[in-house]
Amino acid sequence: MRKPIIAGNWKMNLSLKDAVAFAEEVKGTVPASSKVDAAVCAPSVFLAHLTEAAAGTDLKIGAQNMYDQESGAYTGEISPVMLKDLGVTYVILGHSERREYFGETDAFINSKAKKAFEHGLVPIVCVGETLEQREGGQFESVIREQTANSLKGLTVDQVKNLVVAYEPVWAIGTGKSATEQDAQDSCKFVRDVVAAEFGTEAAEAVRIQYGGSVKPENIKEYMAQPDIDGALVGGASLETGSFLKLLEAI
Ligand code: PEP
Repeated sequence: MRKPIIAGNWKMNLSLKDAVAFAEEVKGTVPASSKVDAAVCAPSVFLAHLTEAAAGTDLKIGAQNMYDQESGAYTGEISPVMLKDLGVTYVILGHSERREYFGETDAFINSKAKKAFEHGLVPIVCVGETLEQREGGQFESVIREQTANSLKGLTVDQVKNLVVAYEPVWAIGTGKSATEQDAQDSCKFVRDVVAAEFGTEAAEAVRIQYGGSVKPENIKEYMAQPDIDGALVGGASLETGSFLKLLEAI
C-alpha cells in the first residue's frame, strides 16, 4: 500500500514570522505519521527556521527548487548539500512555473533529480500539460515525454521512493480543478509510463500526487481514486486551518 503524501507549495508567499508560526501551530497537530506524510515546501530563506521549528515532528520540510551541482560558482543557486545540511526532506523539481518562467527542461530536471537522490533528498517531480496541449490532443505525448525524460536513468529503487506530482497547468492557481475522473485517468497514465520505463514494481510503489486547485472541499474525491496518492497544494496550504483540514480528510 502506498502511503498518501500531502505537500504544501507555498511558492513565493508568507513572511518569516508567518512561516514559523505555521510550523509551530501545525507540527503538533499533524495526524499520525502512519496515515499520511505531511510536508510544506517553503521559500529557501525560510528553510533553516522551519526545519528547526519542526524538528522531531511529523511535519516535514521541503524546498521548491535546487541546483544540480554540490557547490561552485553558481551565483544565486542553492545546492542539494545545503538543503540536506538544513534538514530538508523533499525538493519540488520541475514545477510548471519553473518550466514556464525559468525555462527548465526535462534534461535539467532529470539532472537535479539524480543529484537530489545522491544527497538523500526525496524529489517531487512535477509534470503537467497546458490547456493548449490538452485541447490539441497532445496530453499523452507531453506527459509521456515529461515523465520518461525527467526520470531517465534513475534506478528502480529511486523511482520507487520518489513522488511524481501530476499538475495540469490549467488547474494551478486558477480555481479550475480537474474532475476526479480526469485526475485519476491522468495519474494512471503517469503510472503506466513509469511501468513502461521502469517496470511494474516501480510503478506500483511510486507515489503520484494530483495538484491543481486542491482544497479541503474537494480533496476527498481525489483521494478516493486508486491512482492518486496525495496532493501538491498551493493556495490551500498557506493557512494552518485549511492545511490541517487537507490532512484530516485522508
Ligand atoms: C501548485 O502550486 O503546485 C498548485 C497546485 O497550486 P494551487 O493548489 O494553488 O492550484
